[in-house]
Amino acid sequence: MSRFIDYTYHSHTFRCGHAKGTDEEYAETAYANGYKILGYSDHAMLPGVRQVGMRGDFSLLEGYVESVKGLQKEYAGKMQILLAFECEWYYDRFSQYYESLLSKRGFDYLILGQHCFLAEKDQPIFYGRLADERLALNMYVNDIVAGIHSGLFLYVCHPDLFREWYPAWDDFAISCSRRIIRAAKETDTPLEVNLGPVRWESASKGRLEEHPFYPYGPFWDLVADSGVRVIVGVDAHAPSHLVDSPWDWVESFVKSRRLNYVNRLSVPKGR
Ligand SMILES: [Zn+2]
Ligand SMILES: [Zn+2]
Repeated sequence: MSRFIDYTYHSHTFRCGHAKGTDEEYAETAYANGYKILGYSDHAMLPGVRQVGMRGDFSLLEGYVESVKGLQKEYAGKMQILLAFECEWYYDRFSQYYESLLSKRGFDYLILGQHCFLAEKDQPIFYGRLADERLALNMYVNDIVAGIHSGLFLYVCHPDLFREWYPAWDDFAISCSRRIIRAAKETDTPLEVNLGPVRWESASKGRLEEHPFYPYGPFWDLVADSGVRVIVGVDAHAPSHLVDSPWDWVESFVKSRRLNYVNRLSVPKGR
């Protein structure tokens, strides 16, 4: 296969409520298209948190673990299948739970995908819902930096996601970006160029805009200067995304910025 990407550590399942396809279809599609590594990293099912349409109910955890472990056996020797979650960092609230997924439940790794903060009564709120965008960005960065320093995460998904709701690239955005990059550097934690928005953009408009929300070029220029390792995440929400994502676009994005690109990470983490 001549394609640039033959792996992804970031892929979802129907359980989150906004992705399609059976677990088997993801594996079949990945294998048929030359993938060597398929990491299932659905939005973490969290005890006590209901977030319909965003993450699966906690009752789905057992089925998820069993299904991915079954596929791991089925594809042994053919393609590496990994069991993971995309997690939010909610400080002490779920840190022991995350720890136990790695140490007791056979999870290969966790990735940090921060979309929300946890408000009262375990209610997750999107940062973009806050009226004060500077406050929202400050909270977002504080949470990511703390998550990185927890040592629980293999990498940070879409660190530039704040572009969705903090569109200005001003001094504050730059200093906040530098805080994320510094934490990644200090802990040797890779950052992910995420293919989600570019894929939506090209599918809905038939062409790529110069700057989708993320990955945002100027953010990644700062990453390039730092030497932090960079990985690409397909963030598949349908089996077809493993095939029809903008490969040429991401190859030139990564190469033209002279990022410290890596295509393999060391897993399992935490065991
Ligand atoms: Zn995400
Ligand atoms: Zn995701």
